[in-house]
Amino acid sequence: MKTISCGILVVGAGPAGASAALAAAKAGGHVILADRRKTIGVPVRCAEYVPAQLVGELNLGKQFVVQSIKGMKTFLPDGETTVTLAKGFMIDRDRFDQCLAKAAAGHGAERMLCTQVVGRETDGSIIARHCGDAPVFTRIRARIIIGADGPHSTIGRWVGARNRDLLVGLQVSMPLVHRQDYTEVYFDPEIFGGYGWFFPKKNLVNIGVGMRPAAISGKSPRHVLKSFVQRFVDQKRIGEEVLCRTGGHIPAEARRRAVFDDVILVGDAAGHTHPVTGAGIFSAATCGEMAGRWAAAAVKEGDRSLLQEYEAEWQDLFGETLKRGHSRRRLLESQWHNLPQIIKQTWVAYRGYYA
Ligand SMILES: Cc1cc2nc3c(=O)[nH]c(=O)nc-3n(C[C@H](O)[C@H](O)[C@H](O)COP(=O)(O)OP(=O)(O)OC[C@H]3O[C@@H](n4cnc5c(N)ncnc54)[C@H](O)[C@@H]3O)c2cc1C
Repeated sequence: MKTISCGILVVGAGPAGASAALAAAKAGGHVILADRRKTIGVPVRCAEYVPAQLVGELNLGKQFVVQSIKGMKTFLPDGETTVTLAKGFMIDRDRFDQCLAKAAAGHGAERMLCTQVVGRETDGSIIARHCGDAPVFTRIRARIIIGADGPHSTIGRWVGARNRDLLVGLQVSMPLVHRQDYTEVYFDPEIFGGYGWFFPKKNLVNIGVGMRPAAISGKSPRHVLKSFVQRFVDQKRIGEEVLCRTGGHIPAEARRRAVFDDVILVGDAAGHTHPVTGAGIFSAATCGEMAGRWAAAAVKEGDRSLLQEYEAEWQDLFGETLKRGHSRRRLLESQWHNLPQIIKQTWVAYRGYYA
């Protein structure tokens, strides 16, 4: 088996991993960015909304932006509607991830695609399997491993920190009859523990539900999505053709620890996703930048204790938000029978959420 070495191995080239690789390479680290996918970002498993702030901070241009969003409309089961102004963008998520990874490569990070990290030897070496008819294995020796491998993180499992609390997200993309510049969020007793979304993307719309799985909710997310979509067909707001189907899992946790000796977790792998909204791109990219920067410093100084600075920095920025989100989620689910009232304390559009 071939053996290669690097300072920092980043596993996963989503927003968390690509941002980490970019920051680490910028800081002069010798970085390998490995992803099991053949093409970064494909298939897309996302509703593709990002806050405007993120696009500004990344400074990568706007080639992945499809349209601007002015704010969000929240719809309650009794028809009450709340409008929240918050600038954002609908993006092509595959292009977004690719842009970040390209920027990382531009600073010297080495991309290894079709490369799934599958095991760790007793001396700490990582075993990666290259996809193909005849699988080829490589041993990678790295000083620091950044686990940015998403909600079902293999690296997280190795360090005993896998996500235990996951929501299901299912989505279809369909033709949109009239273009619009607000995202829409729907609360409905059927969508247990979550909500339905209607996110316009120029002439298309991403319509989805994020909710507890059938084993907990007693409802099949697939059926719930079908009837959710039907209401927009009946209103003649969308065409009937399904252009794309996707889905995935969304962590709903509030974890405190992301550093485990020479392993650090980031993004969905670290449970950085917002437990109520399910939004995770902003935190993944922001924490990814921190992870990469501190990993590079730790390698450069030969001092692994510097990784604790990453722990402190992400907790400082997102710890309270995640904690509050988690407690609101618990309240929401425990009082689901009382949805119209409890939602005023548990959804980000209402002042009660922040009380
Ligand atoms: C249906 C749905 C809709 C969503 N909509 C939004 C939204 O509109 N806005 C928002 O902010 N968030 C949204 N999210 C959440 C958001 O997509 C995630 O929080 C975000 O992708 C997290 O980024 P990440 O880099 O941590 O993980 P990911 O984007 O999941 O990237 C992980 C990468 O790791 C790779 N990988 C996994 N295992 C291995 C392995 N063993 N070896 C090598 N590579 C591996 C994967 O191929 C993948 O490329 C949505 C999620 C879902 C499921």
